[in-house]
Amino acid sequence: MFDFNSYHKAKSVDEAIALLSQNPEAIPLAGGTDVLVRLHGHNKNYRHLVDIHDVAELKKVTMESDGTIVIGSGMTFTGLAHSPVVCENIPVLNEGGSSIGGPQVRNVATVGGNICNGAPSGDSASPLLVLNATVELKGPDGIRRLPLYDFYQGPGQVDRKAGEIMTCLRVAADDYRGWSAHYYKYAMRGAMDIATIGCGAACKVVDGKIAGLRLGFVVAGPTPLRCWRTEEKTIGMQADEELIDIVKNSVLGDLRPRDSWRAAKDFREQIIKTLAERVLREAIKRNIRNTEME
Ligand SMILES: Cc1cc2nc3c(=O)[nH]c(=O)nc-3n(C[C@H](O)[C@H](O)[C@H](O)COP(=O)(O)OP(=O)(O)OC[C@H]3O[C@@H](n4cnc5c(N)ncnc54)[C@H](O)[C@@H]3O)c2cc1C
Repeated sequence: MFDFNSYHKAKSVDEAIALLSQNPEAIPLAGGTDVLVRLHGHNKNYRHLVDIHDVAELKKVTMESDGTIVIGSGMTFTGLAHSPVVCENIPVLNEGGSSIGGPQVRNVATVGGNICNGAPSGDSASPLLVLNATVELKGPDGIRRLPLYDFYQGPGQVDRKAGEIMTCLRVAADDYRGWSAHYYKYAMRGAMDIATIGCGAACKVVDGKIAGLRLGFVVAGPTPLRCWRTEEKTIGMQADEELIDIVKNSVLGDLRPRDSWRAAKDFREQIIKTLAERVLREAIKRNIRNTEME
């Protein structure tokens, strides 16, 4: 039995905003793979729901005329895996998405829910961070956009104001064209497991030198994190073994892994260094190969 006090079903984004505004205690329900689990726990924060599961305008991926990719928050991970726009332009999002739960979970779990739950472990967070994604929210005061990095405020906390719905995530053409990326999730099991550490890297190599590098980690701090200081150090460097060494030995300075029942801090630190090397090598390899094919 689900223990909720009120349930409203929205057919459009505007209706969802109105329902959330009329019911200030209510939260959006998308795929429900987090919300319904918490309802079982008699959690008082999840007793009032506005169901956005069937809002068609949230369930599409489009490309605007300037190349910006617009990912509807209601897209499931199975839907993203079948989206030609995602597969052809930002396949790294599917590397994260395909590592989530199992097929049944991915058939209903949405990318919006994966970000809005504020989990430090969300497997779409790292790919979206290295794509420099922007979050778009719509609420009673209109539309607002902010970098995904700033949307995260703490464990389980995001910058969603009263009455707001995340409508989409946006990736600008300059943030994926000419770039190559890779995401790898290290977990104790091959499926149905939360990441011990997840690492994403995106890079752009021009004439053998790093023209751009982004690194994003999950479960390496209270929120998904970018490695700003390490990234900055690498600009203009040759894409060679020295670069890999610098990155590997620098990333821990940007991150804040901790002990938990899943893994000890020391172990996480070791995995972080290993993944930074492995994921960066693959992103560089892909970028050089893609450039040669152009
Ligand atoms: C068995 C199982 C395995 C799992 N494995 C993984 C895994 O490997 N990796 C992983 O990252 N996650 C995993 N999860 C967690 C979960 O499936 C994902 O986080 C999922 O993407 C959440 O999406 P949802 O649509 O189900 O969100 P919901 O449960 O509907 O919502 C989650 C939160 O986001 C809010 N929300 C949802 N959509 C919006 C929106 N458009 N605007 C504003 N707020 C919104 C809700 O109010 C709620 O607070 C697993 C869950 C289960 C049950």
